[in-house]
Amino acid sequence: MSREMTKAAQPSAAARGGAPERAAADGAEPRLVFGRAWDYAPAPEAADHVTIAPRYDLFIGGAWRAPRSGKYFDTINPATESKLSEVAEANAADVDDAVRAARAAYESTWSKMKASERAKYIFRIARAIQEKARELAIVESMDGGKPIKESRDVDVPLAAAHFFYHAGWADKLDYAFHGRTARPLGVAGQIIPWNFPLLMAAWKIAPALACGNTVVLKPAETTPLSALLLARIIEEAELPPGVVNIVTGAGETGAALAAHPGVDKVAFTGSTEIGKRIQKALAGTKKRLTLELGGKAANIVFADAPIDQAVEGIVGGIYFNQGHVCCAGSRLLVEESVHDVIVRKLKDRVATLRVGDPLDKNTDVGAINSKMQLDKIKQLVDAGAAEGAERYSAPCALPEKGYWFPPTFFTGASQSSRIAREEIFGPVLTVLTFRTPDEALEKANNTMYGLSAGIWTDKGAKIFWMAERLKAGVVWGNTYNKFDPSSPFGGYKESGFGREGGRQGLSAYVELDG
Ligand code: NDP
Repeated sequence: MSREMTKAAQPSAAARGGAPERAAADGAEPRLVFGRAWDYAPAPEAADHVTIAPRYDLFIGGAWRAPRSGKYFDTINPATESKLSEVAEANAADVDDAVRAARAAYESTWSKMKASERAKYIFRIARAIQEKARELAIVESMDGGKPIKESRDVDVPLAAAHFFYHAGWADKLDYAFHGRTARPLGVAGQIIPWNFPLLMAAWKIAPALACGNTVVLKPAETTPLSALLLARIIEEAELPPGVVNIVTGAGETGAALAAHPGVDKVAFTGSTEIGKRIQKALAGTKKRLTLELGGKAANIVFADAPIDQAVEGIVGGIYFNQGHVCCAGSRLLVEESVHDVIVRKLKDRVATLRVGDPLDKNTDVGAINSKMQLDKIKQLVDAGAAEGAERYSAPCALPEKGYWFPPTFFTGASQSSRIAREEIFGPVLTVLTFRTPDEALEKANNTMYGLSAGIWTDKGAKIFWMAERLKAGVVWGNTYNKFDPSSPFGGYKESGFGREGGRQGLSAYVELDG
């Protein structure tokens, strides 16, 4: 549509409800201001065909068992604050049962089974995830608050892809580790967070099984449902009992699992604070450990970048999944000469993001995962304002019930401010500037984290020069938040160690002889 046509089609300024005055006054470059003229009608995904049980037990030894603790806790929908179900709280005795079941399955069947047979089970899980994709996506969005278009198009397909990918490796480990023999480690204790519940379960379970290990998985307290649906899938796929066990609960359940002497390997994704605690608890034991922790990634935009694409990449980099992403591009570093134009375009773009019902197919930014997380975001945003940075928040109406935060960014922040250093884990971006590639590099690496980074420029050589020097496990060039099971993911420094995905990810689940 031409600019003239667009302007002619616009309703009167008063009817737009947007910011037509700002658009006219700042003058330098004509801008498209649609206001509410192109609002989408609601397009809610039907959820009535999905059955969420009123109560879920623990999945141990291939059976559903009431917790020895006798306790259950509620899991709620963060968009409505209504209860979805209640879920068993596993105590140390339950964890012990699960680890014993995993050990028995490891010794009696899984480690002895022909690798090509193991692969068949893993393929079955992958196919069942595809078959139940709609149900899984809806439950993921209801339990965690993420927009359905993300759970439908990202989380669930990627979870299936991880099982497919690792099923393919199961009988080819000799080729993954040339000239060496790969042996499984035994029982893997796996603890996952609430930001990508099904996907993180897939990241953890698929490589462990492919390498011949058995698993006890602890999902996060606020998002247990998709892991429990995955347990049903595993049951239907007729995996030998005890190969995968799912124990729901809070932090103590995770601590009991990590500390259990029957666990040979611990894989943890979550906060740096808890990661450090687990590392201390494991020090001096024979257990293997991988940690995937927090981040404060630099998304670096050079003046020669395709600016409009970069703005899309900035938006996707920070507002995807409400910013509940360990590799989110939460520190935007822009070359000083394009700072103003980027900030202006960013404001326009952020103002168009639709915030609201996660089950609406048009929603861009859903609900914040929990009240606790919302409070943490608010606290850090207040700190940003108190430290003198200028705040811009999308002028959107937020639902009255539920946990919400508008897409927000700060300009004028100092490199040492809390919002430039600490992981906010919400839809909040901090914009900083640089003048030379060296300065960009120095600022990007000036963090205790090192999980990811983004570079936007039209010079391939500049991307390689920067990527070689950035202390980040994943570096994206002219894109952001792209994931693939064949591509290893993991951090440096306080973002953790070990890799998930790819051939490198397999090595976290094997002992190599020779
Ligand atoms: P946590 O690190 O506490 O949670 C991650 C997982 O570890 C959950 O399953 C949690 O259980 C479990 N856990 C909690 N305490 C222990 C323990 N002592 N031993 C073993 N396992 C434990 O993250 P939070 O959910 O509390 O989030 C806090 C902050 O962490 C966020 O604001 C964000 O900054 C960061 N975070 C980073 C993530 C990442 O991917 N890098 C993911 C999630 C959070 P439970 O859920 O029951 O507490």
